[in-house]
Amino acid sequence: MSAFRGVDYFHIDSLLSEEERLVRQTARQFVEDRVVPNIRQHYNEGTFPHDLVPEMGELGFFGANLEGYGCAGMSNVEYGLIMQELERGDSGLRSFVSVQGALVMYPIYTYGSEEQKQRWLPQLQSGKAIGCFGLTEPGFGSNPGGMTTRGVRDGGDWILNGEKTWITNGSIADIAVVWARTEEGVRGFLVERGTKGYSTSDIHGKLSMRASVTSSLSFSDCRVPASAMLPEAKGLKAPLSCLSQARFGIGWGVIGAAMDCYETARQYTMLRKQFDDKPIASHQLVQEKLAWMITEITKAQVLALHAGRMKDVNKIEPAHISMLKRNNVAMALECARLSRDLLGANGIMDEYPIMRHLCNLETVKTYEGTDHIHTLVIGERVTGIAAYK
Ligand SMILES: Cc1cc2nc3c(=O)[nH]c(=O)nc-3n(C[C@H](O)[C@H](O)[C@H](O)COP(=O)(O)OP(=O)(O)OC[C@H]3O[C@@H](n4cnc5c(N)ncnc54)[C@H](O)[C@@H]3O)c2cc1C
Repeated sequence: MSAFRGVDYFHIDSLLSEEERLVRQTARQFVEDRVVPNIRQHYNEGTFPHDLVPEMGELGFFGANLEGYGCAGMSNVEYGLIMQELERGDSGLRSFVSVQGALVMYPIYTYGSEEQKQRWLPQLQSGKAIGCFGLTEPGFGSNPGGMTTRGVRDGGDWILNGEKTWITNGSIADIAVVWARTEEGVRGFLVERGTKGYSTSDIHGKLSMRASVTSSLSFSDCRVPASAMLPEAKGLKAPLSCLSQARFGIGWGVIGAAMDCYETARQYTMLRKQFDDKPIASHQLVQEKLAWMITEITKAQVLALHAGRMKDVNKIEPAHISMLKRNNVAMALECARLSRDLLGANGIMDEYPIMRHLCNLETVKTYEGTDHIHTLVIGERVTGIAAYK
């Protein structure tokens, strides 16, 4: 396979500024040089490529669309393009960057005290510190409002008790953003690794997101000082606002995975010959799949770009982001399935990236609001009727 040069059927590049194309090129080169050669081994062995963390920090990938505290201050379109390129490499790597930026740096930046921002943002930006975001619990996934993790005041401190699960970066995180129910409603806490009463354990046996660490977090009479609470995060809308940031990145990221699958299949079908020594790409049924994929990728690109431009002028709403996430993830999953098919038996081999993307995208469909939940968000937006219960 030749080096990845992007997928641009509709001259969407002409809608990007020179700076945006430069940011994308930097991320693309990083993925080509540092991710593509090793990701297959990491995926097979179930290991996260830790060595890439400082490099991604230096390139400004963490909290790229935040300003100050060492952050790159990029536009949301530039940030989205980085996510796209990273997920072309692997959804697990993009998940790491999404969690670090959108789910850890963003809440500290938006809801944290000045002291919390000064202390944590520069370290997280550079990758010297790693963060995780603990919202999901064993009994509460799609409905985080039911959470049972409790924070109770004790003098000037807070005592946390409860369980979080399916937490990306959990056991490798220096700092966990943890959401708990208190007498003041849902509040966010910064819990440092090594705090007494806080422990983590990794989830093994995943057949998806194998190059990403996923853990459970346990809090047993875990005492944290009052200064560990995010002072401005009040109520469930705070963690939900973080999820909106991350979902925006997912809406872009999955285009990268889809492009990789499509381009792999396109090149393969031009070379692979069957029946009268003709490339399989010459058959109408094969072309129909390629045509479907390039059309859907193009529509997803337009949606993501428009979402990015709207976010840059603060006009985007959570219901828009739900459509972006739901549509683009479903599109990418279908591209992965069709591409897998077009490679025949080779489609199941790890020599090609398709099966890895396909397995990863099954997680991406579930996390950050399942396809169903985003369907209901869109349904509520157009009818005014909430159908979650
Ligand atoms: C690899 C991985 C990494 C993750 N990382 C994180 C992380 O860093 N932090 C974090 O907090 N969480 C994380 N998650 C958890 C993720 O957000 C949840 O898995 C997700 O919210 C779904 O919750 P659940 O798995 O409990 O499924 P459930 O909520 O039990 O849903 C199961 C099925 O029921 C459907 N369903 C539920 N309610 C409704 C309804 N009202 N109407 C229609 N259908 C419904 C769902 O759509 C789904 O199809 C991660 C998950 C995975 C797999």
